[in-house]
Amino acid sequence: MIQIKKQVKTKHMNSNAAPFQGRLVEQLVAGQPTQDGDGVKLTRVLTQAHQRRLDPFLMLDNFGSQNPQDYCGGFPDHPHRGFETVTYMIAGRMRHRDSAGNEGLLQNGGVQWMTAGRGLVHSEMPEQEEGLMEGFQLWLNLPSYQKMCPPAYLDVQSDKVPERVTEAGVRVRVIAGESENLKGAVYRSTRVFPTQVMFLDIHFEKTGNFQQNINIQDNAFVYVYRGALSVVNGSEVSEVPLHQMGILQNSGDGVHLRANQGTCALLISGRPLNEPIAQYGPFVMNTREELIQAVDDFRAGLYKS
Ligand code: MN
Repeated sequence: MIQIKKQVKTKHMNSNAAPFQGRLVEQLVAGQPTQDGDGVKLTRVLTQAHQRRLDPFLMLDNFGSQNPQDYCGGFPDHPHRGFETVTYMIAGRMRHRDSAGNEGLLQNGGVQWMTAGRGLVHSEMPEQEEGLMEGFQLWLNLPSYQKMCPPAYLDVQSDKVPERVTEAGVRVRVIAGESENLKGAVYRSTRVFPTQVMFLDIHFEKTGNFQQNINIQDNAFVYVYRGALSVVNGSEVSEVPLHQMGILQNSGDGVHLRANQGTCALLISGRPLNEPIAQYGPFVMNTREELIQAVDDFRAGLYKS
């Protein structure tokens, strides 16, 4: 009897120990240098060309410069409707103000999650005259039934971003979603927010490995902002160089990242909405008619109240 039990247990353990199936890189994207706001130089990593493939993500910008000329103009008053912006600062200070009187200061390691919903007008201005300004802005789509929700802000200072350090010494900052049961700064009901976004900032101090489970339905990408990464599945490896985005296949259990040097990377995933995307600049709706309405409402000053 005992032997049979042991056998069953061994079998069970073996099935648990099945090799982790990792997603590989389907496409590498280098990003396009561009300017936005009042002449802010940045790299647009995720562009409109990737909105279908990386649904629910609409855009990813990476800004980073030591030269005040590249960022001092900031992003003066501008509107948004129909989606969310997630701003993650690595270095520097940026102040935001909106038409409803909200104000906040974003700085080193902090995150601002803004739900534009039915519309607001805001500014995002550097609050420094010199030094490094570096960070990211991700645009996340809202489902049709939420596009006209009331605007909302969440500001999370760096010391409030949940972190864990793996056995391999890899530091994982969980900005949204969860990683190994550690819930992020933003963790929301899937009933209200079906996109189930996971947003991790992963720091390898030196050579190391990191695995993250990702639901096979979720679209995912990794963006390297220090060092370089290998994306591993058994003996297969794809490389993601510095300042490139690796769009990950929808397959397997998740992703296995390997760094051969000090490396920092964002790992972001979300469940696609599979809805029509109609975009005109800072307005993202489902139809052309809704876009025309969005512009008309803006011109009529309806985002001001
Ligand atoms: Mn904005």
